[in-house]
Amino acid sequence: MIDSSAFHGKKAAYFTLGCKLNFSETSTFGKMLHDMGVCTAGKGEEADLCIINTCSVTEVADHKCRQAIHRLVRNNPNAFVVVTGCYAQLESEAVSKIEGVDLVLGSNEKANLIQFLSDAWSGTMSVNGKNNDSCIVHRVKTKDIKTFAPSCSRGNRTRYFLKVQDGCDYFCTYCTIPYARGFSRNPTIESLVNQVRKAADEGAREIVLTGVNIGDFGKTTGESFMDLVKALDDIEAIRRYRISSLEPDLLSDELIAYCSHSRAFMPHFHIPLQSGSDTVLRLMHRHYDSRLFAEKIFKIRQFMPDAFIGVDVMVGCRGETPECFEETFAFLDGLDVTQLHVFPYSERPGTSALKIPYIVDDKTKKQRSKRLLELSEKKTKAFYERFIGAETEVLFEKAPRGKSMHGFTSNYIRVELSADEAREEYDNKLMKVRLGCFNHDRTALKADIICHG
Ligand code: SF4
Repeated sequence: MIDSSAFHGKKAAYFTLGCKLNFSETSTFGKMLHDMGVCTAGKGEEADLCIINTCSVTEVADHKCRQAIHRLVRNNPNAFVVVTGCYAQLESEAVSKIEGVDLVLGSNEKANLIQFLSDAWSGTMSVNGKNNDSCIVHRVKTKDIKTFAPSCSRGNRTRYFLKVQDGCDYFCTYCTIPYARGFSRNPTIESLVNQVRKAADEGAREIVLTGVNIGDFGKTTGESFMDLVKALDDIEAIRRYRISSLEPDLLSDELIAYCSHSRAFMPHFHIPLQSGSDTVLRLMHRHYDSRLFAEKIFKIRQFMPDAFIGVDVMVGCRGETPECFEETFAFLDGLDVTQLHVFPYSERPGTSALKIPYIVDDKTKKQRSKRLLELSEKKTKAFYERFIGAETEVLFEKAPRGKSMHGFTSNYIRVELSADEAREEYDNKLMKVRLGCFNHDRTALKADIICHG
């Protein structure tokens, strides 16, 4: 039983680290708390409740989490402080020892945040974890993580993020996500369709499908990702869908063909490669080789020559010799992709990658990142240049009055509308534009409005 009077009138501060999934979940926490009468603390205002949704993808992420917790505790000395997310799951004991933290919720428990808060505030909370003086921990072992915290929320801009899947069964040797988020699981297509209809009623026009390993969708319900895509495509009020990231071995030819003629799935792909060297891919226990990856890119280009293709690459992982890195560089140089998201490898406790003896030093990691980022810049610039002068549709995002507006084309080219041309009513509207040359900091193409789309 939840007593809403304990929530009413309280002010909450939120802090999120990590991926889109975390941001989407935090935004859902905010929505749930808002429904209970909790408002968001304004800038400089002291909060009664702090929610910190953490990430543990790298050592730096862990460090940032600890810093954020300390800062929020310091700035909100009377607040009830809740820490959840991947770092809270993996390092719950360490988090519970941080001065000022009241409640640590693991990945299985965060779905029941409101219940936990209600119990804590009414003094009926049972303690099933370590109780470090005043801090209570609720966290189950990874294998027991079963809940799915649904989330469909507006990001800080125009787009909505729909969580379609959580967890991962792949256990790549460098990754802690399966330990932090548990095994792959998903809700039913029916429930996701209902969430999207509700978002459409709130005004959503573009939705990004998020998850940890989205292509694995259907394991829990016996459905398939393809079924989900088709069901969502039928919801006419949503004009655009993007898929945040798909493992190459799960990106089916059927899906590529479908996206090329679908009503609302955009010609925009984000595919993690991690390495172009088959030796390294084997060490990582990835589920494909460079040949399969190249075939997928070729297939996308065959159906959608103008698609934006973003690729994740990890540099400096254990076992990446200079020869392996050169193979990766040459592979990516010859691949018709649009942008590289480059991540330096970070050692994670408990991962099997630590058994690989060959270590890459930090200086080499930086040099390799730099070379790949330069390659990425060259590719993105060439892609953007192809569309200068083209007529296309852009979904514009809210901008402060008197500032230029930004938005994206269907194939994810960032577009800038000058402050003179920007209008409040263009927010969340599809507009027909003509693309011009690069803006002053070369992060977008300038545009002139032709008409409403
Ligand atoms: S596919 Fe690999 S890298 Fe991605 S979340 Fe799963 S284990 Fe981690």
